Formats: sequence, structure tokens, C-alpha cells
Amino acid sequence: MTGKEKEALRLRASLIMERLAEAIPEPRSELNYNSPFQLLAAVLLSAQTTDRRVNEVTPALFAAAPDPESMAALGPEGIYQHIRSLGLAGGKSRNLAAAALQICRRFGGRVPDTFEDLTSLPGVGGKTARVVLNVGFGRPEIAVDTHILRVSRRLGLTVSSLPDQVSRDLAGLIPEQHLLNAHHYLLLHGRHTCRARSPLCQHCCMQDLCTSPDRKFTEA
Ligand code: SF4
Repeated sequence: MTGKEKEALRLRASLIMERLAEAIPEPRSELNYNSPFQLLAAVLLSAQTTDRRVNEVTPALFAAAPDPESMAALGPEGIYQHIRSLGLAGGKSRNLAAAALQICRRFGGRVPDTFEDLTSLPGVGGKTARVVLNVGFGRPEIAVDTHILRVSRRLGLTVSSLPDQVSRDLAGLIPEQHLLNAHHYLLLHGRHTCRARSPLCQHCCMQDLCTSPDRKFTEA
């Protein structure tokens, strides 16, 4: 890519962020939580299920175990009783109990705020760590999931299918003032408008910018 092409892509990314900022005035997580630990727990539980399903089970779970100490004490079997309606409940219960215990033992009961420490916890991969850093600690991180990957490719911000590379591509294109909210702009746009099988292109604020072959102008 030439310098001019790169500059044009940066301008395009800036325009996309401005459109999304206008369309999504409240770029916030759709998971319910009251602390960085509850956020981490909710994100861990959200693997391969929807935020809505997670929000259905967390009120009772967090009432029983609101912090790392009580979650570790509840243990995998106690956690399982609260989350068994979710997919992968056995593994999620074990990981959440183990992560809570390590947060108590290694980090004094506080969720760590570095990528390295977060990803050292059981069940916490790069995507979960970036969500916690972005949403819980206000860091300009973009956690690339299936929605962000799809939207970024459709809008021509990346040609990669590898989350880490997409994350680097986005970080190199998106203006600094939008980096904090870029994760939710792209995620919420992908979840609610630029959907995988039936994108609502007729309601999209970027119709004139998008040249994706996936564009569809049909009512859902
Ligand atoms: S026009 Fe359609 S495919 Fe393109 S970004 Fe908007 S919703 Fe997605």
C-alpha cells in the first residue's frame, strides 16, 4: 500500500468513526455488572452465548457471589447451579472459580489491569482481556470478535481474518479520539445493523461508504 492509499484509508476510518459516533451515542457494553470483577465474570460467561442470556443468570450469581472471595468460595459446583442454562457451563464454572481464586491469591482480590496479568488467569484469552481493559479500565483497546471482524472487513478497514492482525490494522487507522469507543461502535453496529446473514443496509449510516458485496437492501 502506498503512502497516499494509507492516508486515504485513515481518512475513511475517521469518517466511519464519526458516522458511528453519531449513530451510537451511548457506546457501552450490553452486559450488566457493578465492578471490574463482575465485568470479567460476565465476559467469561458470554463465550458462545448472547449478552441477554448472560444478563438473565448474573443477577442471582452476583447476589450469591459479588466479589472474587465469595466467587472462589462458591466454587465450580455452586457457580454451575446458577449458570447451567448457558452453553459450556461446566468449563465456564471451573474457569470462573479458578480465576476468582487466583485474583484473591495473586492480586489481593483486585482484578489486574494489564494484558499480561489478565491473560494469566484461567479461561481469560486476549479478547476477554481487551474487553476488560477497554470497558472496565477505560483503555483504548479493541477486542476483535466475530462482529468486529465482519464489520471491519465489509467496510474495507482490513483484509485480514486474523483477530490480532485486525486489531493492529484498526489501531493503526482509527484516530486517537475514537479509540476508546471504537470497540463498541463496531461491535454494536455489527450486532444490530451490519448483521452476518441479513445486514440492515437500508438503515445503515454508511451506505455511501460501503462497497461490500454483502450489502443487502431488503427488509429483515
Ligand atoms: S451498508 Fe450494509 S454491509 Fe455495509 S456496513 Fe452498512 S450494514 Fe454493513
